[in-house]
Amino acid sequence: MIRIGPAGGFKPNTLDSVKSLNSIGLNAMEVEFVYGVNMKNDLAKKIGEEARKEKIELSVHAPYYINLSSLKKENITKSKGWILDSCERAYYMNAKHVVFHPGFYHERKKEEVFEIILNNILDIKEILRKRKIDVELSPETTGKHSAFGDLDEVIELAKKAKISLCVDFAHLYARNNGKINYEDIFDKLKVLDLKHLHCHFSSINFNSKGERNHLNISSEKPNFRDLAKIMKHKKMDITIICESPRQYLDAIDMVKIINSV
Ligand SMILES: [Zn+2]
Repeated sequence: MIRIGPAGGFKPNTLDSVKSLNSIGLNAMEVEFVYGVNMKNDLAKKIGEEARKEKIELSVHAPYYINLSSLKKENITKSKGWILDSCERAYYMNAKHVVFHPGFYHERKKEEVFEIILNNILDIKEILRKRKIDVELSPETTGKHSAFGDLDEVIELAKKAKISLCVDFAHLYARNNGKINYEDIFDKLKVLDLKHLHCHFSSINFNSKGERNHLNISSEKPNFRDLAKIMKHKKMDITIICESPRQYLDAIDMVKIINSV
């Protein structure tokens, strides 16, 4: 099935947002820990119970400042900690995907950075296994040319580490100078044999360095209708988290577009 939801809540707190999503026709939500993991496990559990009751699919976005390929060792250690904290809350919330931006090239060879990030993810995976925290690590396709994470890299990472991923269509569009071919993206993803695909969507502003800022979907950069048609035609099992500035309002519009194509 196709699930649509906002990045972050639309009520003053996460619990109320989860309770109200069904009433506005949405059935997914990404809990944003982008500025820090400031939630107790007890609350995470409560949110998880509510989500189960309401049949809302939850996911988690780990902090923005994660950098698994930092030149400073201490930053890598901290980044691992932030991912692990996000995974723990996700586990209690019954959320599956834990999304994070993997790291930066810092003027090094792409292959070298790939190995560093891969090894750090394997370390995290091993800790999760020991702690019996069952979530899907989901590195995201990134929008800046300085950031690790074009589609091929993230697919290769997911394949080698045996993890999931998050496809951010806006970021791919920005990385590719305003071009996107949804069919090609889905074709490439076939090597992973994923049962479920977790994605982000919005329109986006970009320049020669890549992404600048996210835009409302009415900007059609890229176009959502084309994606809606393909998802429906392929009967995909997919979740689209709306990251536009209009958040849940654009998510509602996305549902309308899906129903209209
Ligand atoms: Zn995103």
